[in-house]
Amino acid sequence: MTTVETYRTLDEASRAMGGDTAYLGGGTLVMRAVNEGTAPARLIRVTDPGLTQIRASGDRITIGAGVTMADVLANRDLDFLHPVARLIGGPQVRNMATVAGNLFAAHPYGDFAAALLALDAQVTGAGQSGTRPVAEVLRNRDRAGLISAVEVTRPRDRRAFGFLKVSRVKPKGVSVLSIAVHLPRDGGRIRNARVVFGAMGPTPLRSSGAERALEGHAIDARSIADAAAAATEGLDPPTDQIASGWYRREVAGVHLKRLLTEMEQR
Ligand SMILES: Cc1cc2nc3c(=O)[nH]c(=O)nc-3n(C[C@H](O)[C@H](O)[C@H](O)COP(=O)(O)OP(=O)(O)OC[C@H]3O[C@@H](n4cnc5c(N)ncnc54)[C@H](O)[C@@H]3O)c2cc1C
Repeated sequence: MTTVETYRTLDEASRAMGGDTAYLGGGTLVMRAVNEGTAPARLIRVTDPGLTQIRASGDRITIGAGVTMADVLANRDLDFLHPVARLIGGPQVRNMATVAGNLFAAHPYGDFAAALLALDAQVTGAGQSGTRPVAEVLRNRDRAGLISAVEVTRPRDRRAFGFLKVSRVKPKGVSVLSIAVHLPRDGGRIRNARVVFGAMGPTPLRSSGAERALEGHAIDARSIADAAAAATEGLDPPTDQIASGWYRREVAGVHLKRLLTEMEQR
């Protein structure tokens, strides 16, 4: 039998974790495990209202771990993330699915996490004063601990950030793959290119080939073609019920080209 324990703060919850426990965010995945009889014996939840807050300070925005996709969509400061949140599940899922939970959602989920990785988001953990890169959390999910918030910087202009999700069932199908791209420009040249694929590995992953092809260049037909050609370098996409690894590899570059072309034309 599964029991649920409620704590006031994340620190208290953190101390209660251990053994056969799981943290309960919005529960879209954890409650599925409960229904399937595969959930841990103890579920830990927190009522701290701070976890559901979104705070903007200039271009820097702090998103509480318990902020849902519906909350993201209702917040103007996060308008650049609306195209991402809008494509996560259906309305019921978006009402419950949290930003922190998305960081821990197993393949092929993690569309929002892909966007956070492309934006070089920083993550705050329970009982920690500093932040750590979201990439680190995604690399060590088993040892990441409880997350209290995620910080992102608003992209400089609307052409700099793009997101595309490829799914078989529209509008709320699971990802064949998703792509999040952040291309800050300096004098027309791309600096610190980020190209991230979701569902192309166990967690969202950066495409080093595409980033290399774009870095220091303008977005034009040539750099777009080079990025598309190098898109899957070093990636080993898995096969699941949605698509084979072979298919994912075949179409990744084509979809990256579409997204970059659309961003260039904005
Ligand atoms: C029908 C359906 C459709 C879906 N569609 C999509 C989709 O299109 N795209 C997509 O990306 N995902 C999708 N999902 C997966 C899921 O809903 C999302 O990934 C969601 O963001 C997970 O958040 P949650 O709060 O519900 O997680 P929960 O189920 O509460 O938790 C998931 C995991 O995250 C951990 N966790 C949660 N919060 C924290 C925290 N603060 N600190 C540390 N660990 C934490 C939990 O312990 C658990 O291991 C779908 C799920 C369903 C059921």
